[in-house]
Amino acid sequence: MDHHLSPELEELRRTVEEFAHDVVAPKIGDFYERHEFPYEIVREMGRMGLFGLPFPEEYGGMGGDYLALGIALEELARVDSSVAITLEAGVSLGAMPVYRFGTEAQKQEWLPRLCSGEVLGAFGLTEPDGGSDAGATRTTARLDTETDEWVINGTKCFITNSGTDITGLVTVTAVTGRAPDGRPQISSIIVPSGTPGFTVAAPYSKVGWNASDTRELSFVDVRVPAANLLGEEGRGYAQFLRILDEGRVAISALATGLAQGCVDESVKYAKERHAFGRSIGTYQAIQFKIADMEMKAHTARLAWRDAASRLVSGEPFKKEAALAKLYSSTVAVDNARDATQVHGGYGFMNEYPVARMWRDSKILEIGEGTSEVQRMLIARELGLAG
Ligand SMILES: Cc1cc2nc3c(=O)[nH]c(=O)nc-3n(C[C@H](O)[C@H](O)[C@H](O)COP(=O)(O)OP(=O)(O)OC[C@H]3O[C@@H](n4cnc5c(N)ncnc54)[C@H](O)[C@@H]3O)c2cc1C
Repeated sequence: MDHHLSPELEELRRTVEEFAHDVVAPKIGDFYERHEFPYEIVREMGRMGLFGLPFPEEYGGMGGDYLALGIALEELARVDSSVAITLEAGVSLGAMPVYRFGTEAQKQEWLPRLCSGEVLGAFGLTEPDGGSDAGATRTTARLDTETDEWVINGTKCFITNSGTDITGLVTVTAVTGRAPDGRPQISSIIVPSGTPGFTVAAPYSKVGWNASDTRELSFVDVRVPAANLLGEEGRGYAQFLRILDEGRVAISALATGLAQGCVDESVKYAKERHAFGRSIGTYQAIQFKIADMEMKAHTARLAWRDAASRLVSGEPFKKEAALAKLYSSTVAVDNARDATQVHGGYGFMNEYPVARMWRDSKILEIGEGTSEVQRMLIARELGLAG
């Protein structure tokens, strides 16, 4: 793995860093406080091409890859995780399934608008009774052969980007049949927003990611054309495992950004804040805490870039993606806690970015596979599966 970014990636990194500081940082605190989706910021991210980063130009993308996406996510999350998760979910969970598994017609229909950020995509896997155990999916889709339509019934929960004014589609997983041994066959189906019978609840009240959109979805006799099946019937389980493997690389870059943002804010504050006649940054206890935070952010970066390099070059990357996700989310939580400590009482005040980072960090150990699930995947890759 080359640790130098190519000139193109360095240019992308600098552009997103500037955008995060000049456009996101001054505004996002207010959106967060109001629990409001930042449409104008997301539109600007679309104009910059961020939603099209890992897709070919023929579909309106930027011709990059997961390394480019990770670079952008890390720089955004150094400043704010709500906008970063909007991008991560829009690309990895919304558009990528269409790109990886869609027919040419589905790609032509959806990808140009998803890549430009004109519409957002979402991925509906989790259900009230099945998150980690995604095989427990209860949502069903029955093919009505008379009308050649899927009829979908069920509920999905915690779905990112699913209810904004610009959400265009949700890819849902549903049981479409049973294997001879009785196991459910799961398929993925594209449901456009606004389809009759498909309703989105009001946004959840969350601990963090307050300027991102997360909702419960309900499907009551929702009819979509048979052609909305994404990929092969019964292959939905294998498809979302692939999508989640890739998504972990992206989430890991996001978590690294949060961990690094905690360092940035702590260094700044430690130089400004005085106690007992000296800046607190001159005390070894503070210096060591920040040095450890930097070590963790740096190591997390190596881990996600290693997983991304393997993914991009077509090598196996499942274990490295799980390692990167597990490590980066753990250190994001560590750094958010320590950065808050460096800030003292001000760290508990929402006007300070570290307070937002603290609230945003915990979900990183839960979403797109909990830390326990990552450990299960790593153990399985080591041949320890039961
Ligand atoms: C803000 C937010 C956004 C989200 N966005 C999306 C989205 O866009 N799309 C989507 O489909 N989902 C989304 N999710 C859902 C998320 O992926 C799940 O919450 C997560 O996978 C955990 O599932 P669960 O909540 O059902 O917890 P559970 O699976 O019920 O787990 C509860 C606890 O038990 C542990 N556990 C479970 N099984 C085992 C086991 N075998 N061994 C040891 N421990 C175990 C878990 O690690 C966890 O600690 C989102 C969630 C949140 C909170």
